[in-house]
Amino acid sequence: MKRAALLLLIAMLATAFFAFDLHQYLTLESLQEKREEFAALKVQSPWLVAGVAFAGYVLVTSLSLPGAAVMSLAIGALFGLLWGTLLVSFASSIGATLAFLVSRYLLRDAIQQRFGDKLKAINDGIAKDGVLYLFMLRLVPAFPFFLINLLMGLTPMRARTFYWVSQVGMLAGTLVFVNAGTQLAQLQSLSGILSPGLLFSFVLLGVFPMIANKFIQWLQRRRVYAKWNRPARFDRNLIVIGGGAAGLVSAYIAAAVKAKVTLIEAHKMGGDCLNYGCVPSKALIRSAKLAQQMRHGERYGLNANSPDFSFRKVMARVHDVIAKVAPHDSVERYTGLGVEVLQGYARITAPWTVEIKLNDGTMQKLTTRSIVIATGARPFVPPLPGLEEVGYVTSDTLWDKFAELDEAPKRLVVLGGGPIGCELAQSFARLGSGVIQIEMAPRIMIREDLEVSELALAALAADGVEVLTGHKAVRCEKEGERKFIVVEHDGQTRRIEFDALIAAVGRSARLKGFGLEELGIPVQRTVTTNDYLETLYPNIYAAGDVAGPYQFTHTASHQAWYAAVNALFGDFKRFKADYSVIPWSTFIDPEVARVGFNEQEAREQGIAHEVTRYGIEDLDRAIADGSAHGFVKVLTVPGKDKILGVTIVGEHAGDLLAEFVLAMKHGLGLNKILGTIHIYPTLAEANKYAAGEWKRAHAPQNLLVWLERFHAWRRG
Ligand SMILES: Cc1cc2nc3c(=O)[nH]c(=O)nc-3n(C[C@H](O)[C@H](O)[C@H](O)COP(=O)(O)OP(=O)(O)OC[C@H]3O[C@@H](n4cnc5c(N)ncnc54)[C@H](O)[C@@H]3O)c2cc1C
Repeated sequence: MKRAALLLLIAMLATAFFAFDLHQYLTLESLQEKREEFAALKVQSPWLVAGVAFAGYVLVTSLSLPGAAVMSLAIGALFGLLWGTLLVSFASSIGATLAFLVSRYLLRDAIQQRFGDKLKAINDGIAKDGVLYLFMLRLVPAFPFFLINLLMGLTPMRARTFYWVSQVGMLAGTLVFVNAGTQLAQLQSLSGILSPGLLFSFVLLGVFPMIANKFIQWLQRRRVYAKWNRPARFDRNLIVIGGGAAGLVSAYIAAAVKAKVTLIEAHKMGGDCLNYGCVPSKALIRSAKLAQQMRHGERYGLNANSPDFSFRKVMARVHDVIAKVAPHDSVERYTGLGVEVLQGYARITAPWTVEIKLNDGTMQKLTTRSIVIATGARPFVPPLPGLEEVGYVTSDTLWDKFAELDEAPKRLVVLGGGPIGCELAQSFARLGSGVIQIEMAPRIMIREDLEVSELALAALAADGVEVLTGHKAVRCEKEGERKFIVVEHDGQTRRIEFDALIAAVGRSARLKGFGLEELGIPVQRTVTTNDYLETLYPNIYAAGDVAGPYQFTHTASHQAWYAAVNALFGDFKRFKADYSVIPWSTFIDPEVARVGFNEQEAREQGIAHEVTRYGIEDLDRAIADGSAHGFVKVLTVPGKDKILGVTIVGEHAGDLLAEFVLAMKHGLGLNKILGTIHIYPTLAEANKYAAGEWKRAHAPQNLLVWLERFHAWRRG
């Protein structure tokens, strides 16, 4: 009701403004005509004229009516630069804030409710950098004044903030217009305000945001560091906490550019990837694949044979592989590269100080200009009643635990249908376990397209994995030595007996116990960082799993470059971490690899796209290899060969994808891939054939008709 009344009032005032043609009084010509009259009035009753001008200005701006620029000139002409500026500055800011409040009152709730999800990014941006955005918009008066008021009213920005930023931000523009008003008699037109001198002022205004940005950054830094004493000298340029992918690469880069860098690792050099993640899982996958190929020898013209192997030896090989890769990440190698490696637990005690509890029990304290936090993530263990009692393994423990077994667990439950769960479920099934995989979501590998999930499911099922999607694990139970997990599906419960359970339901960033709490560094699921990977303290960075949003070794090392370079050279030039082209692969058989958008994401985000598919069952090399299944699916901009995303399912999909990753990174389209020679017969030809499918679908049909006629004519 109140809203309707306000709307009606605004509509009436605006209608009156146009119906009585009040706008005619707010033109430069009418102003110049009436200049003398206004001046005489002002001499008679200066306060009254000032009051009316002020109220009129507020009214015009709050109702978003045209004429504010002319009013600024008029006020400048009447009151001179100082008083005119004061008057316009307050009137325009109050008017703008009223317009902002009206827009908020009338529209914000409805708009936020309706488009809440889509506005999230904007809301987050406003919460984080709203002051700066508004300040810039106000400084450079290229964007309509009234639109800024109305649009900002729809965001979560506080009215008080809006008011003061507007007042400060508009000051320079106000000065320009009021100053022009003081020379009203000489003004030929409104556009005449933009004399060369004034144009120069606007150029200066353009530079202002950068200066303002720096100033705001400087203020923020001062506030953040206020309670800490900065050492006069530093022991190190960089301290890196964590010796996984992100930490190793950060330290490597620092040493390569001759910085004094210390890398601290509490446990095993190489972190999760080497010791519990990529390396052991891929070693296991290889053995499991060979076992499966032996089982299906007939597909290769051999006798099918149940593979005869010792599970203990398979697991020993996994450890051998880790040992063979370990020198790449070792203390010796990094020391040789110029990194000081300390083995112990690090804790940040001040923005420039790190305390290390060395593994030999001694303590060391180091000061440093910058810090990179690269503490990684650990397996998330679901709070499932009874889980601790029945016992479980995670990716952290299974490699050692299973290495003690002579045979793969007979009945294995894998909790989780993400990439890690799928890789492990398939591998252990191939190595002889009866595997039941439990996933709460309606399908496994839910980030991928439906058809990919379905293919993955079919592949796992073909290897004997019983995949239970849409099943919620509710509790575990123990009866003597027997272990059970109870799952719920469509209101029914099922009790599954198992010998071993792998919890693979995700990994959570390591955020506690090394100083983030004490320093007040904000965290959510990961350490909160800005685009430069800076935490709250601009000299403390985060990279890898602890920073997110991706949890891959290659993204960890990608971020490490930004963190290290910004940490060492950020005072001169900073780089925003670039996530525009991020590939990944799930190493089930057949592999699933992706870069950029898939169909479901493109649809959800309203990205216009075309889909081109090439089925690998037609590929000569895949047929020869007995792996003729899967596809290459490319999303492109409609009518263009620009690649938006690629999903490959098939043998060595992760390797095949590299060509598309390169193409996307460097803006090469499908025509370029088609015009590139691919060796025959290779799996990589699938990429070229996918590009060929796209080309065929975009062949110029009209031209082909004419070509057909041309050739017919040439035949005589
Ligand atoms: C089973 C499995 C399979 C995977 N497969 C793949 C794959 O095929 N491809 C892929 O790209 N990714 C894969 N990943 C993910 C990959 O392992 C991680 O993304 C990667 O290891 C992250 O590296 P990081 O440097 O961020 O963290 P981490 O490798 O976890 O390293 C962090 C290190 O910091 C140390 N640390 C923590 N706190 C402190 C402290 N206070 N003081 C000193 N040291 C500390 C830890 O001991 C640890 O060594 C897999 C993960 C798992 C679990």
